Amino acid sequence: MSILKIIEYGNPILREKSKEVTKVSKKIKTLITDMLETMYSANGVGLAAPQVGQNLRIFVIDVSDPEGPIDPQIFVNPKIIKVSGAINSYEGCLSFPKAYTNVRRYSDVMVKALDINGRPFIKEAHNGELLARAIQHEFDHLDGKLFIDHCRNRFETNNVLAKYNLPPVEADKLLNEEELEKSIIEYEKNHPEEAEKLRKEIEDSENQNG
Ligand SMILES: [Zn+2]
Repeated sequence: MSILKIIEYGNPILREKSKEVTKVSKKIKTLITDMLETMYSANGVGLAAPQVGQNLRIFVIDVSDPEGPIDPQIFVNPKIIKVSGAINSYEGCLSFPKAYTNVRRYSDVMVKALDINGRPFIKEAHNGELLARAIQHEFDHLDGKLFIDHCRNRFETNNVLAKYNLPPVEADKLLNEEELEKSIIEYEKNHPEEAEKLRKEIEDSENQNG
């Protein structure tokens, strides 16, 4: 096992579309093991293959309590098959050291993927839980998308990026998410207590990096 170098924002590899894995070979299994070791050593909750310089459709996630036993989840050739709901998510990324910002996400997600043995499985995550946000964040990496493309406030995000010496938001990469934004505002208006509770939980939780 080895710890791999994590690529930082500004490197064009992060903007490439990754290729499907044709076979979960021994080489792929080694890459997955190394990705897990790299993620744990960086205290991240998720890591996608492009972040370690491999444009392959693989990501790993562990949303378990850092004090408890590990619970690695491996996603090879993932496909998001259903999304619903909308939430504000305060996110960071291992490729953006220390920089966190508010982004738009779906609250519920269903994903289909292959495990480390090449066997298909389906995973669901709900109510804006960390797993739901992490799956969307990591899945994006495989399509060359980054969390800042979902930012709710470009100027606020640019200030954060500048503070940590990272390049600014790429305007042509910003996603048009008017409907999602409307749904987040609507949700926060109709459920002020739940929205505040979720916002607080997200902002207080550590290890948001992916
Ligand atoms: Zn990331």
